[in-house]
Amino acid sequence: MQQGKLIIFSAPSGAGKTSIVKGVLQRLPGLVFSVSACSRPMRPGETDGIDYYFLTPDDFRKKIEEGAFLEWEEVYPGNYYGTLHSEVKRIRDQGRHVVFDVDVAGGMNIKEQFKKQSLALFIQPPSLSVLRDRLVNRGTETEESLNRRLGKAEQELSYSRYFDCVITNNLLEDAIREAEEKIKQFISKAKTE
Ligand code: 5GP
Repeated sequence: MQQGKLIIFSAPSGAGKTSIVKGVLQRLPGLVFSVSACSRPMRPGETDGIDYYFLTPDDFRKKIEEGAFLEWEEVYPGNYYGTLHSEVKRIRDQGRHVVFDVDVAGGMNIKEQFKKQSLALFIQPPSLSVLRDRLVNRGTETEESLNRRLGKAEQELSYSRYFDCVITNNLLEDAIREAEEKIKQFISKAKTE
């Protein structure tokens, strides 16, 4: 059986990437979400093993030392996020394609390791002020974490050129359709190579 491909979604947080990932997963049944490990506290409505594998910072560091991660980042000070080798292998061995929702540095890292096997999609918000409004409306940020996320977002937008394609999330439905088309093209091209 052919090994599955890697579909990477990266974006500044608040660009609407997670909603696009969910939409794409609903429409393309050959795709499976790679559940990351993270050390931040669980938010209301999140489930361990579905949204993330929630680890203590100590357990996360232990896994780094064991070499369990394909990539990991301290996305925000004190908050670690990482992709487990075991998660990716489990999905690819079934011949299914792996979908990653990772920060920009993580996306570039995976792309670098799997150049031809991966499609890296960069989701950008229509503007930084729209991004600010979305983060405020989400209601999960303190003033301090909001400013931190916005500062990081500004920096991350400059890395979009390292991705295979850039999708601007104006209207969610359009962005999902555009991502779906890019993924279908990539997978059908990969089959003939
Ligand atoms: P949140 O705390 O809002 O769930 O996620 C914060 C950021 O961490 C998002 O940009 C998300 O894509 C990113 N992230 C989630 N999982 C991983 C991962 O495994 N690796 C990396 N590098 N970033 C991740």
